[in-house]
Amino acid sequence: MSDTALSRAAAADAQENSSLYEAAQMQFRRAADLMGLDGSVRTILEQPKNEIIVNFPVRMDDGRYELFRGYRIQHSNILGPFKGGIRFHPEVNLDEVKALAAWMTFKCALAGIPFGGGKGGITCRPWTMSEEEQMRLTRRFTHALGTNIGPDWDIPAPDVGTNARHMVWMMDTYLNSVNAHDRNRGRAVVTGKTLTCGGSDGREKATGQGVCFALESWAKDRGHKLSELKIAVQGFGNVGSHAALIAAEMGASIVAVQDHTGATANTDGLDVVALFAHWKETGSLPGFAGGDDLEPESFWSTPCDVMIPAAIENQITKERASRLEASVVIEGANGPTTPRAEKMLMKRDIEVIPDILANAGGVIVSFFEWIQNRNCEQWEVEMVDRRLRRLLLRGYQQMKEQARKLGTDNRTAAYVVALARIESAYAERGIFP
Ligand code: NAD
Repeated sequence: MSDTALSRAAAADAQENSSLYEAAQMQFRRAADLMGLDGSVRTILEQPKNEIIVNFPVRMDDGRYELFRGYRIQHSNILGPFKGGIRFHPEVNLDEVKALAAWMTFKCALAGIPFGGGKGGITCRPWTMSEEEQMRLTRRFTHALGTNIGPDWDIPAPDVGTNARHMVWMMDTYLNSVNAHDRNRGRAVVTGKTLTCGGSDGREKATGQGVCFALESWAKDRGHKLSELKIAVQGFGNVGSHAALIAAEMGASIVAVQDHTGATANTDGLDVVALFAHWKETGSLPGFAGGDDLEPESFWSTPCDVMIPAAIENQITKERASRLEASVVIEGANGPTTPRAEKMLMKRDIEVIPDILANAGGVIVSFFEWIQNRNCEQWEVEMVDRRLRRLLLRGYQQMKEQARKLGTDNRTAAYVVALARIESAYAERGIFP
């Protein structure tokens, strides 16, 4: 078992020197100190409530069995069931999933939706696996989780490397193995499903849509017209592509896009619909006729007003932050800015709209999907977007009010709003027993 997914996972677990969880803790502690968060609440939130690790075999297409490691971290359920995505990626490890789960707790609290925070993932390379292998992987993982997930307990959703197909396989496995009796409401065990299988209209684009509502709020605050703004987007998956498409529809100019295949740029604005078609056809961004190929590192110094990192974490490093030309970073991805980069951005007066607000659109519309499943309803996309916009704008205003009141940065202020809600829930309920 020299180079199995399992040994890669173990190696990744051991390598904690660039701890994402530590970065998440630093953000949490900064806000907790500033607001004087109750000591007991602070102690509880420092660590996740449950850490579930499962190792399980999956039959590969060539008949071999490979052992995979999956994680489900349940950080907090004081405000409602654990909620958060499932990631398929070779870098998935305990530290990363713990950080992502904690961010979900604060994201849901800030949005004012009745969910706690969770996250999961499997250390794997989905792009090297066939559809059948991915299906067996997803089903075995869901089976291994058993009653650790459920519509009233813990509700997964898509994240990097997973999409609606994976969610439908999870739902089907759960309904067939754990909850065979309540097949209608039981669909709410996962969100981000296909429309036919209980998904919500507007869920697929929801995170990108939310990023654009955050953009709209920031532009209004700063007195900018959207049509005047030049935007660079990193990541052209679910979040990045929808953010780019919607921002372009709103009148902004997308001047550069980068993903793991490379980058393309056009100072007059890329035709994002044509770029999307090119990417669908070729699987990569370079070679797009409507733009010039760009060296991946040059992407970070593209002259623009808005930088939207929407790929993976730790992308805006201190060095890249020192070269950024934007006035604002709107975090579509989770944890894209390292703590050192954040200091550099502050020093350079580049504003940050933090992930726990900017990418909350996904979990907010997941909440709408969950309600629809439980009530056997199907909302129209206009209603979904209207409600999403209201919650996103409310979160933005509350964050800004706190930032002004406390004289602090947006991220710390967003945490303060979220932590105050969690603190109130503990104060009202008391800590068991
Ligand atoms: P995805 O798998 O659909 O897309 C990921 C994108 O990142 C791809 O375009 C990929 O090419 C790019 N990428 C990966 N590694 C890269 C690298 N080293 N350099 C440049 N580009 C790279 O994932 P997604 O669902 O769009 O998620 C993106 C981010 O948004 C993640 O941080 C995720 O946690 C966060 N997020 C997603 C959702 C959601 O609803 N999908 C919700 C909230 C937050």
